[in-house]
Amino acid sequence: MSAPVKTLEPEFHQAYNELVSSLGTSKVFTKHPELKRVLPVISIPERTLQFRVTWEDDEGNCRINTGYRIQFNSALGPYKGGLRFHPSVNLSVLKFLGFEQIFKNALTGLPMGGGKGGSDFDPKGKSDAEIRRFSQAFMRQLFRYVGARTDVPAGDIGVNGTIVNYLFGEYKRLRNEYTGVLTGKHMLTGGSNVRPEATGYGVVYFVSHMIEHATKGAESLAGKRVAISGSGNVAQYAALKCIDLGATVLSMSDSKGALVTKDGKGFTAEDVQAIMALKAQRKSLSSSEALCSKYSYLEGERPWIRVGKVDVAIPCATQNEISGDEARHLVASGCRFVAEGSNMSSSAEAVDVFETSRSKGEGLWAAPGKASNAGGVAVSGLEMAQNASFSSWSPEEVDSRLRGIMKSIFEQSLNAASEYCDAGVNNTPSLIDGANIAGFLRVARAM
Ligand code: GLU
Repeated sequence: MSAPVKTLEPEFHQAYNELVSSLGTSKVFTKHPELKRVLPVISIPERTLQFRVTWEDDEGNCRINTGYRIQFNSALGPYKGGLRFHPSVNLSVLKFLGFEQIFKNALTGLPMGGGKGGSDFDPKGKSDAEIRRFSQAFMRQLFRYVGARTDVPAGDIGVNGTIVNYLFGEYKRLRNEYTGVLTGKHMLTGGSNVRPEATGYGVVYFVSHMIEHATKGAESLAGKRVAISGSGNVAQYAALKCIDLGATVLSMSDSKGALVTKDGKGFTAEDVQAIMALKAQRKSLSSSEALCSKYSYLEGERPWIRVGKVDVAIPCATQNEISGDEARHLVASGCRFVAEGSNMSSSAEAVDVFETSRSKGEGLWAAPGKASNAGGVAVSGLEMAQNASFSSWSPEEVDSRLRGIMKSIFEQSLNAASEYCDAGVNNTPSLIDGANIAGFLRVARAM
């Protein structure tokens, strides 16, 4: 086994080590020794772009941010992955996200390589005009390096559909070309039905497969108590789909605090719509008196240890948002299913806690983001196909394909775990190892 990459990039190091550990503890390299030589190659991006973005604020001042695009791997198709606008963005964060994206995209079965980009620009506290000017300035630097068959960015934290359209408009202007260079566009400018909903719906479809498989069809999501974190695009649609399928949503949160059910009845669809309206105005949950009186508002807290008895956890906020202690608490509170809506939601210690519980036969199922949150990029792949053929598919058509892809990702992860790993006690396979192995095999063979 090659040694883990020595680096000052902790997030990337964590993601790389998790993959290497899944491969190293399985039979992958015993069965396919030739694939081992892929590891040192796959761990280095094909290309890393870093650029200065200068833009003008509402007071007429010149402002400066750093922009990035990591074109990590193009073995399976054009680089594909989101753009994150958040003050925490740096090369380590984007390298980990780009690395995860390679295997996530591979699991969708669609022809997409892996990439990621973004900026340390913070949309919070900025006017709409400032966000538009920043986005256009960002694209003025990026447009040379992206294209419908080269690299296709999309949204991520801090980059919503409106920002995608600012970027798209600027690309169109500079290139004089109307092609699907970005996904997550509005419907009138070449977007796909179900793209806004896709990550959230997809993670819930994935959880449903976990529950049905684990209980041999005896149970479903209906009636389950679900803790959700986050209140952005992924959390919003995950919550709505959970409610639609008869589950009780116990919590939602943002970077300032968490809302947790007081009476155990959970969030209504109307409450989630109210949260969507708040977030569209870039306001925090604490600014809604109505929500803060109906639910307990826990300032500065995450929901995991405050939700009481819980069956399912769907973290949808950001990386490393479940600590080891929180993971222990979730397991002790009866949580049996964890599916990451954000990328690498679980800290390395939390992954250890979940995997130890699983391997002891306690019936815990934990799915990594690269499998359970792949619905967003999957529908991005469908958007690329629609753009390439100048067509638009109905919501039913896209949703049915999304369901098919999430089912296939669940089965690929399960099958890879049973083929390459020792069977877990009580036959609970590691979906973390399975997803890592299935994604890696696809990319490594292509390379
Ligand atoms: N940012 C999303 C992700 O992490 C979507 C990427 C895309 O659609 O390209 O998968």
